[in-house]
Amino acid sequence: MNTLRSIKGTHDILPEQSRRWQSLEQNIHNFMERYGYAEIRTPAFERTELFARGVGSETDIVSKEMYSFRDMSDTSVTLKPELTAPVIRSYLQHNLGRITPLTKLYYIDHAFRQERPQKGRYRQFHQYGVEALGSPHPEIDLEIIAIAYFSLLELGLENLTIKLNSIGSSECRTAFREALKDFLRPHLNDLSETSRRRFDTNPMRILDTKVPHEAEIVKSAPIIAEYLTSADRAHYEELKSGLKSLSIPFEEDSNLVRGLDYYTRTTFEIISPALGAQSSVCGGGRYDGLIETLGGKPTPGIGFATGIERVLLAQDAAGIIANPQNTKIYLISLDDPGRAANLVLISQLRNAGIKSDMDYLRRSMKAQFREANRLGAEFVIINGNTEIKAGTVQIKDLNTGEQSAIAPADLISHLLK
Ligand code: ATP
Ligand code: MG
Repeated sequence: MNTLRSIKGTHDILPEQSRRWQSLEQNIHNFMERYGYAEIRTPAFERTELFARGVGSETDIVSKEMYSFRDMSDTSVTLKPELTAPVIRSYLQHNLGRITPLTKLYYIDHAFRQERPQKGRYRQFHQYGVEALGSPHPEIDLEIIAIAYFSLLELGLENLTIKLNSIGSSECRTAFREALKDFLRPHLNDLSETSRRRFDTNPMRILDTKVPHEAEIVKSAPIIAEYLTSADRAHYEELKSGLKSLSIPFEEDSNLVRGLDYYTRTTFEIISPALGAQSSVCGGGRYDGLIETLGGKPTPGIGFATGIERVLLAQDAAGIIANPQNTKIYLISLDDPGRAANLVLISQLRNAGIKSDMDYLRRSMKAQFREANRLGAEFVIINGNTEIKAGTVQIKDLNTGEQSAIAPADLISHLLK
């Protein structure tokens, strides 16, 4: 019979790698704690409608990447393809805004998208991200970009580029959309089918195009910056001067739209040169219209999501490895009484917080020493009938080769000193 394999685009995180994941996750938890963000965990699947409304039916995510199915009650449900919509759903459902006027949340979670798997692009992948709900002011935009950027620096990423834009508020969007359509109309025949559809549904998405000849066309498209209201412009200027005062480098990119109707003002993306084709490591923006779209009262919000697999790929390129935590003690059993005594001793050592291991295969002394070396043990304890009679065990320092006898009762205090 064939052995079964995992689904294309999904990955096991094997023991050797899970240490890196734990270290990265711990880093994020500590980082977010420092910034005053609290963790939120939402279910793996939601009603499909949440994403149709909360991400937008014209996005790649909703139009072609979702894993959706009908459950037993014929409800259409979807494995979450992104985390913002579920977080907002939860925020509204539990009325978190009543507890504090500014709600600061973060997550470390998986997401599912039916995409063509390739390096840095998978069908189940992971993101960490934050959402700050309740403030329209540029100081929170500054904080969100600072968190996105400084957390990546803390994870060891280098040479990052922050691309930044402001797409203004909904007031200026109508005029811009018309100007953009006027510009694109003569090029309609040169556009892809997707872009032609977006011309009617959401023409701003076309600015985000990854199709090279379309990117060439939109280079000379009208620029949203020229349509911003004075309040939008003031917001953007304040954000930029905040970034400068924190020495956070950024490049303005007038075509960075990140496409949703309810996106407002700030949009940003962080690019790592270590990633090749899938160079975007983080995407974020302000979504002042989203909470209302999902049935809440108008509430400003802003957030970002960073792809964890892409962070790990960039770490690989920078030669960053997680330090393995070596076994401190390996207990060697010379005979049956020695093994019985070691089973008690190892339990005491472990309960005292000392990383210890022993042989469970009844192997020869030589093989047990080999195993101790493989685990990088600092000390071995040797225990057998003779030791038990003498009321001691042998302790050998594997670095110096020194060996001495010690009473089991003194072992823990000896090791912890
Ligand atoms: P891309 O342009 O690469 O498709 P995106 O705009 O779809 O990215 P977002 O939805 O903004 O990405 O998600 C934020 C981050 O999540 C991305 O910058 C990336 O690091 C990561 N990400 C997105 N899709 C995938 C995927 N299929 N596999 C792995 N990581 C992903
Ligand atoms: Mg994508």
